[in-house]
Amino acid sequence: MSVDPNTPVLRNCIRLPLPEDELIEVTAKAKDYAIMHGAAMRSKSNFSEDSLNFAPFVLVPSSFPRKEFEKAVALQPIINRLMHNVAHDEEFITTTLAETIKVDEFTANLFNIYRKVLAHGFTQANSIGLLRSDYLGHVYEGCAIKQVEINTVASSFGGIATHLVQLQNFVLRELGHADKLPNMPHNNALAGLCDGMVKAWDIYAKPQSVILFIIEDVSYNICDQRFHEFYIRETYPHIKVLRRTLTDVHREGKLGLNKELLLGGLEVAVIYFRAGYEPGHYHSQDEWDARYLMETSLAIKCPSIQYHLAGTKKVQQALAQPAVLERFINDPEEMKAVGKIFTGLYSLDDNEAGNASYEMALRTPEKFVLKPQREGGGNNVYGVDIPDALKRMSRVERSAWILMDLIHPPLTKGYMVRPGAEMPPTIVDMVSELGIFGVVIGDADHIIHNYQAGHMLRTKLSTANEGGVAAGLGALDSPYLI
Ligand code: ADP
Ligand code: MG
Ligand code: MG
Repeated sequence: MSVDPNTPVLRNCIRLPLPEDELIEVTAKAKDYAIMHGAAMRSKSNFSEDSLNFAPFVLVPSSFPRKEFEKAVALQPIINRLMHNVAHDEEFITTTLAETIKVDEFTANLFNIYRKVLAHGFTQANSIGLLRSDYLGHVYEGCAIKQVEINTVASSFGGIATHLVQLQNFVLRELGHADKLPNMPHNNALAGLCDGMVKAWDIYAKPQSVILFIIEDVSYNICDQRFHEFYIRETYPHIKVLRRTLTDVHREGKLGLNKELLLGGLEVAVIYFRAGYEPGHYHSQDEWDARYLMETSLAIKCPSIQYHLAGTKKVQQALAQPAVLERFINDPEEMKAVGKIFTGLYSLDDNEAGNASYEMALRTPEKFVLKPQREGGGNNVYGVDIPDALKRMSRVERSAWILMDLIHPPLTKGYMVRPGAEMPPTIVDMVSELGIFGVVIGDADHIIHNYQAGHMLRTKLSTANEGGVAAGLGALDSPYLI
């Protein structure tokens, strides 16, 4: 992706470049600090369950406008409530996804589970959402934050992000800049998210019950997951944590007399999905059956199927229309504040509005990003590639996708440190995406808990379309507020 040469560059936390000797020394220390404090992942190219690589990180924290950071934090409880209300609006979810599920098999499979659960009634009225709302600053509006997306399933990096602040604090102190530390906001994402799971466990109210993590067959992002597990085990030693794949649950899981989810001799109170958000996690009907079994059980799901569907890109696109937002947010001030973080989102459904968006995308593709109903990064189509992608689809197939205005974030300059890369690192142009975590627990009528729970920052090369850390394009970072 080409970057507009007039893109503003945010003022750096410290003066760069660093003298080469100092850079080499501090980078080597920071790499070891990262591995030793779990800012690490399993290697994809050289996989072993016996070793870790440090996760790619940015050496010195990237600047982020304080006002925009505080805005995002303050908005989170409102966004939590919005998503909770959306998840419980059967009519809205059904009509919004009606066209999408005709062509998107994965969303259709999720929707089928939803439909079946609706028909039989929900066994468990409560849901827990561990959400992450992601933002980029937009330079054409004074770097005001715009929401990239909201994640309602497997919102990751709360664990590592919490520890990354310590790493960058360490680096700043080593470089003689301890005076900068007060500008790095505290991050309690790990505690906030895990305490949320434990609050759900409390609601379930059975002392012997356990928390189940649904995991991929191979967990590359193992440290982030283990941080959650170890925090729960260390802070609440009476609560056991199990890790199982969807395939395991199909093999071992069954329902008790009151529809309790039983795994071996253990009853599951809370299910935390770190897998199940992409088609590749379902190898056969067995995994779908396992998902359905869990959905019909008494366990409190993170996310429940309605929360999962509320996090689809199609729902996000529908919500960005003011008349729709009004349905879920009563307070006019809140409406206005949330409305401002949305950028243009357009339906590609097979109707008049969808056809107009299609024509617009063909005319000025450089203004847009095209998104399918997928999670986990690497699925979008950008700018000049959009017309070809769209022309390959039938009119009906287009409704599996949405179109979104491209957000233009400000640049920062810094050192990105990645495993196997040449030393010392060189200064690169980067852009950062802020994620704000939120916890919301409740049923269709009441919200019992609703709070903001820390943040994460992911930074990528300014020329890369996407910055997935797991995908190897982005790096972990934390905000330095300016
Ligand atoms: P996913 O659920 O796969 O993470 P996202 O909507 O977050 O999907 O898109 C992946 C990445 O693509 C984002 O992290 C961001 O880097 C980039 N991206 C997405 N939408 C936009 C946008 N409107 N403008 C600029 N970049 C975007
Ligand atoms: Mg996502
Ligand atoms: Mg994303």
